[in-house]
Amino acid sequence: MNEEPDVIIIGAGAAGLSAAKELTRQRLSYTLVEASHRIGGRAYSEEIAPNNWFDLGCSYLHQAETNPFVPIADNLGIVLKKDKGDLFAVDQVRNYCNGIMLDENQSALRNQYDQQCTERIIASKAQGKDSAVSDLVDLDSPYAAPLMIGMATANAADIDQTSAADLVNFINGYDFSILNGYGNLVKKWGGQVPVSLNTKVTSINWNSSGVQVETNRGTIRSQRVLVTVSTGILAANHIQFKPGLPAWKEAAISAVPTQTMNKIGVHFSRDVFAAGDLGVHHTWNENGQGSEIEANVMGLNTATIFVGGRFAVWLEKQGQQTGLDFALNQLTDVFGNDIRNHIDNSIVTAWATEPLTLGSYSCALPGHANQRVELAGPIDDKLYFAGEATIVGAQATCHGAYLSGIRAAQEIKKASDSR
Ligand SMILES: Cc1cc2nc3c(=O)[nH]c(=O)nc-3n(C[C@H](O)[C@H](O)[C@H](O)COP(=O)(O)OP(=O)(O)OC[C@H]3O[C@@H](n4cnc5c(N)ncnc54)[C@H](O)[C@@H]3O)c2cc1C
Repeated sequence: MNEEPDVIIIGAGAAGLSAAKELTRQRLSYTLVEASHRIGGRAYSEEIAPNNWFDLGCSYLHQAETNPFVPIADNLGIVLKKDKGDLFAVDQVRNYCNGIMLDENQSALRNQYDQQCTERIIASKAQGKDSAVSDLVDLDSPYAAPLMIGMATANAADIDQTSAADLVNFINGYDFSILNGYGNLVKKWGGQVPVSLNTKVTSINWNSSGVQVETNRGTIRSQRVLVTVSTGILAANHIQFKPGLPAWKEAAISAVPTQTMNKIGVHFSRDVFAAGDLGVHHTWNENGQGSEIEANVMGLNTATIFVGGRFAVWLEKQGQQTGLDFALNQLTDVFGNDIRNHIDNSIVTAWATEPLTLGSYSCALPGHANQRVELAGPIDDKLYFAGEATIVGAQATCHGAYLSGIRAAQEIKKASDSR
């Protein structure tokens, strides 16, 4: 490891890797430490079948019009699915209640309800408020259940824990998909960055003479440290700050928790989907339980079942088999029982208990959308912060993490120039 680099970066996810590249561009040295055996963090792909990559974390290139990973993929020769139809648009989604597909009239009513909810959320922010989404929508509607399920999978949090202003701050755009895994894209793009793997930070001592970072592989000293770990890791005090973080930073960490969204990927040994099955399906029962299903989007005989919020945490705690059973029940509700005869492989994610993230991605609590700015704020030109939770507009995304890394590296450069 570099003896005394200009900066110590903690975490080799999208944020840490982009910060490393930007620091090099700014001619500053760094040591990048990563607790895991691999780079990428929450961008991670595994083969669910030969040559068929399943993303356990990020899979969509959101805000594709401006997403920096789009030109990065193009330059690396990585194939993106760039059709601009919005897979998630309400009028494209098929809806199933208790296993029965909504008819045209019911679907129109559902879309109307969704539209009303969106308008209320936007209006609330426009009035300068930051309410819980649950306070803005009609929960007695027969279409409240799919709205709640859809919101929990999108935001990783239930609507009573979701800040309406945070939602409105997110810039809408096209979603591009990627054939061979977003995780693989990040791995290839970040592959040349020197990283000290299997190096877990346990504490950061910071004082007027600099920072001292304790890891399982020894101590590293520098003048500045850039922390890119999730707010889940920070809130759990897995890294001890000595002295402790100021109250305003602690408040920001609590206000923008890392929440849970899990996926269950199922690969089938043959094509079990009809041509019209491709796309997103919402399914729920009278108890308000359900999921969002993405079927065969890449044409590789794979379905992904998404669950979010408290239900996702609960399901994760029941273990992988219960998660898979739930997913298969959801699939048979929509595609019929026969698909059970053709299951080839499955992957069940467990982000709530993943020890290096403690959650999937961040969602600001009601009243706290503005805390993302505090989360990003440096302390005493010693402690800098990046990561998906520290950016507004592209929050909770992989490219948002990338942008936050560049922002933090530029803040560091500016501060070091002005010394
Ligand atoms: C299920 C799921 C679906 C998602 N879907 C999408 C999507 O479709 N599109 C999208 O854009 N985004 C999506 N995201 C979000 C996206 O993956 C993340 O926002 C992004 O990858 C976060 O990058 P990061 O660098 O901020 O954090 P991370 O990737 O978490 O990087 C932080 C790194 O710090 C390391 N670390 C933790 N503790 C320590 C320690 N003590 N010492 C050293 N290292 C440590 C971690 O191992 C990790 O590698 C999804 C995420 C999940 C989980």
